[in-house]
Amino acid sequence: MKAVQYRTVGAAPEVVTVPDPEPGPGQVMLKVTAAGVCHSDIAVMSRPAEQIPFPLPLTLGHEGVGTVAALGDGVSGLSVGDSVAVYGPWGCGTCVKCAEGKENYCLRAKELGIAPPGLGSPGAMAEYMIVDDPRHLVPLGGLDPVQAVPLTDAGLTPYHAIKRSLPKLVPGATAVVIGTGGLGHVAIQLLRAMTAVRVIALDVAEDKLALARAVGAHETVLSDRDAAAKVRELTGGVGAQVVLDFVGAPPTVATAGAAAAIDSDVTIVGLGGGALPVGFGSLPYNTTVTSPYWGSRSELAEVLDLARAGSVEVHVETYTLDEAPLAYERLHHGRINVRAVILPNG
Ligand code: NAD
Ligand code: ZN
Ligand code: ZN
Repeated sequence: MKAVQYRTVGAAPEVVTVPDPEPGPGQVMLKVTAAGVCHSDIAVMSRPAEQIPFPLPLTLGHEGVGTVAALGDGVSGLSVGDSVAVYGPWGCGTCVKCAEGKENYCLRAKELGIAPPGLGSPGAMAEYMIVDDPRHLVPLGGLDPVQAVPLTDAGLTPYHAIKRSLPKLVPGATAVVIGTGGLGHVAIQLLRAMTAVRVIALDVAEDKLALARAVGAHETVLSDRDAAAKVRELTGGVGAQVVLDFVGAPPTVATAGAAAAIDSDVTIVGLGGGALPVGFGSLPYNTTVTSPYWGSRSELAEVLDLARAGSVEVHVETYTLDEAPLAYERLHHGRINVRAVILPNG
């Protein structure tokens, strides 16, 4: 079958032919309908060899949906042809975090060599993929697979970040979204669907800010060195109760800290390498700073429910499997509108 692989450190991903997979005992094989292209892949592919957390070559794609093509021995509860989304942050299934459904915070994944598809295990950018356990599949329940595939990461990750801050997202509060791309444009919609806060969106280009307004941002601000001051102005000097940074670069985390209110949450989701010092005098009193990872299994089910209710709609642009390297190149240059989705089986 054809697959998109990261093969050589520093080189672009390549379309190659690999052996067809077969599901082992307890595993499920999917015929992949759609695979999302995430900026995290670019972050990982930009690293030097010693910082790449998995052996190469690797089939990419950590956002995947497909139909069940074959069941390994002992698998029940699924039928061939079922349309499912893949829950990506695979854990061990038995530690206390996994028992809570928070496999994204599995305590033993690293020690056991368990890695998400597309970030260590063979991913969704191939005609077929193997899912290690049926618990990592969530029924699509009538959702359009192409529209739904980014929800498994670009939806789930902001949902997880927002949900933990819900106590601060009361009516009258302000949430700032920095970076309104794949994750950020879903975050704006989630904030509007889950809360009654005012949403201020920051990005570097006017077309991105126009999209942010179209998906529900009340105010938009150009992300430059004056951005935090503008957020303060828009909030009567108070700042934002929650700041979600989907860039995470040194200048944006600085903006995030400077835009935060007293007793606020600053949540750094982007992998841009920035860090925000915490200590008396560096941030407003009782500001928490966190860097969450992906989301839980139950949260993925909740995100899909929100999409079924019509509360979130991902803006997607589709590519064939052969065009996947082009999609990565375009994402790298900020030229995707807004989430690229690869269709491995046409
Ligand atoms: P994307 O490329 O689709 O969107 C990034 C957006 O940020 C773009 O709209 C871009 O114009 C904007 N941007 C760039 N520089 C900016 C700046 N200085 N100020 C404001 N906006 C700026 O990327 P994506 O796929 O949505 O991913 C966003 C980030 O989240 C990436 O760093 C990715 O690696 C990370 N990520 C983290 C997790 C996690 O679990 N923590 C999960 C998925 C993605
Ligand atoms: Zn991702
Ligand atoms: Zn675990």
